[in-house]
Amino acid sequence: ATFADLGLSPELVRACGEAGFALPSPVQREAIPPVLRERDVLGLAPTGSGKTAAFALPLLQRLLEGRAFAFRRVRVLVLVPTRELAMQVGEVFRVLGGATERRPKVSVLHGGVSVNPQMMALRGGADVVVATPGRLLDVLDRNAVRLDAVETLVLDEADRLLDLGFAAERERVLAALPARRQNLLFSATFPPEVQALAELLLRDPVRIEA
Ligand code: AMP
Repeated sequence: ATFADLGLSPELVRACGEAGFALPSPVQREAIPPVLRERDVLGLAPTGSGKTAAFALPLLQRLLEGRAFAFRRVRVLVLVPTRELAMQVGEVFRVLGGATERRPKVSVLHGGVSVNPQMMALRGGADVVVATPGRLLDVLDRNAVRLDAVETLVLDEADRLLDLGFAAERERVLAALPARRQNLLFSATFPPEVQALAELLLRDPVRIEA
C-alpha cells in the first residue's frame, strides 16, 4: 500500500515524500485508516517503528479538513514522557504540517526551560500541543491554555509516562478535556498498568501491533 492508498490527501502524501518516506511502515499501514475514521487506537509499537508519523499524518489531515482553525483552541493534545520526546514529536508535526498549505500551529511544552516563552507562544492558540504532563499542568494552572475543545488525545510511550508518574497527574489532565474525544494510546510494552490505563481511556479501540 502507498500513503495515498491509506486515505491521505495529496498534500500530505507530498509531505511524506519530502520527509523521505517512500512507503508506509507496518504501524502506519495499520494506524492511519482508523485514526482518519476517528476510531480510538491502542498501538503496541516501539520507537523506530514510525509510530509518530502513524498518528501525526492522519491527525494533521483531520486538522486540515473542513472546519476553520479555532482561535485559541487546542484540537490535538499529545502527551509524552520526556522533554526530548516532546521536541521530537513536535518536530514531526511541524515538518509534516509545514509542507501543507495551512501549516497547523504546533506548540511544545516541557520542563527544564522557562515557562514564559512557552506561554507566549500559546497566546494566539495552537492546533497541536505536544506536552509533558507536569509542564502542561503548570500552564493550565496559569490559565495559559484551554483544552475544552480537544478532539484527540494521544498518549505516546504510555509505559514511560506511567513510570514517570502520570497516574498521579491523570485525573487533572483528563478533567480539563471534553468527555467526548478520540483517544490514541501508544506503548512499547503492555504491562498491567498500561492495560488499566487503556481500559480507562479507550472506547472500542482498534488494536495494532507493530
Ligand atoms: P518513530 O518510530 O516515530 O520514532 O520513527 C523512527 C524513524 O523512522 C524516524 O526517524 C522517522 O523519520 C522514520 N520514518 C517514519 N516513517 C517512515 C517511513 N514510512 N519511511 C521511512 N522512514 C520513516
